[in-house]
Amino acid sequence: MKRVYCSEDRLLVGFLKGVLDGHRIDCLVKNEYLIGGIGELPPGACWPELWVIEESDLPQARTLIASVLEGGSGREPWRCPACGEWIEPQFTECWQCAQFEDDLP
Ligand SMILES: [Zn+2]
Repeated sequence: MKRVYCSEDRLLVGFLKGVLDGHRIDCLVKNEYLIGGIGELPPGACWPELWVIEESDLPQARTLIASVLEGGSGREPWRCPACGEWIEPQFTECWQCAQFEDDLP
């Protein structure tokens, strides 16, 4: 098992897990619920981490994450201002609360 990504943004880590799931890459999130440990551990030690199960999937997972974070399609994932959900770049409307990206302040 290999760690492929780490961020203090739990929603973003969850979003990236969904991207990998969509490409049939087995993965899991560690430290998802350990935010309360901050203060006793070194900075970053309890950030959510995304791990791939099969090491052979690592290169593809890295490529997918890089392309998502860099907006490989020319657009970037955006965060709904109403509910905080991360939305994939191809969508212009929040799937959760129907907020439109165009309505961003
Ligand atoms: Zn929303």
